[in-house]
Amino acid sequence: MNSFLEALNEKSILVSDGAMGTMLMAAGMQSGDCPEALNLSRPELIRSIARDYARAGADLVETNSFGGSPAKLAIYGQDDKTEQLNRLAAELARAAVGEEILVAGSCGPTGLLLEPCGPARPTEIQAGFQRQIQGLIDGDVDVIFIETMTDPNELQLAIDACREVDPGMPIVASMTFDATPNGFFTMMGTAISEAVTAIEAAQVDMIGSNCGHGLENMIAIATEISSLTDLPLMIQSNAGLPVEKDGGLEYGESPQFFAANIDRLMKAKVKILGGCCGTTPDHIRAIRKHIDSEVNHD
Ligand SMILES: [Zn+2]
Repeated sequence: MNSFLEALNEKSILVSDGAMGTMLMAAGMQSGDCPEALNLSRPELIRSIARDYARAGADLVETNSFGGSPAKLAIYGQDDKTEQLNRLAAELARAAVGEEILVAGSCGPTGLLLEPCGPARPTEIQAGFQRQIQGLIDGDVDVIFIETMTDPNELQLAIDACREVDPGMPIVASMTFDATPNGFFTMMGTAISEAVTAIEAAQVDMIGSNCGHGLENMIAIATEISSLTDLPLMIQSNAGLPVEKDGGLEYGESPQFFAANIDRLMKAKVKILGGCCGTTPDHIRAIRKHIDSEVNHD
């Protein structure tokens, strides 16, 4: 059995890692730099981030490949290195954490609008995701996280791409919702109920939500998703909305705040819990500590 599915079966909850981008910025990455190019130019940095999350207690770390689609890499003139940068992302994470910790291949949106709303042709977008996911699988990931998606059609193209490369590879499909006066919607206007219907129809292994406006909203999103589906749920919240400070971004929600709200997420039947933008190894350490103390109480 695949090691990711095995861990899902065996453990009541898996702790994933926190932000990658936030850590890269803290290590000196500038806003115009290509994050995935660091897999080639600063491999020790990428390994050390994975190692820090594993030491903080993560059961699973994500690869530095969120923007690893050729469409996204083309912004930096790096699209000819798609397979190489994604394979390296997986190899670096694996080298840092070994076989005991799971490695999830991160696959984010292209940032392009699909036809007929925009210029992106679905066949080309899917072919791009296939190149990215092939690289990740060649580098030995246990699962593919398709994340921060706002358009169910683009999500489906990534799912189709993953199945083309390896039909047996587990998939977590995670979307990002914004709070509006009328409820939660993705940037593309997809309601939670529509997202759940689309993800259930795609028959993936897990549903998820990541990024967003902070933990309070994420608890409401998790509660709504779990009321609509029996699919296991992954939640990776931002540490609030960022505010600009001293030329950088600052996130307000502390590790203690995350830990104090875990029980409310557990009520929503969350199966993988980690963090997104603004979360650090300290957030993951606080989550791990809280979960271990709860388990010990049983
Ligand atoms: Zn985020």
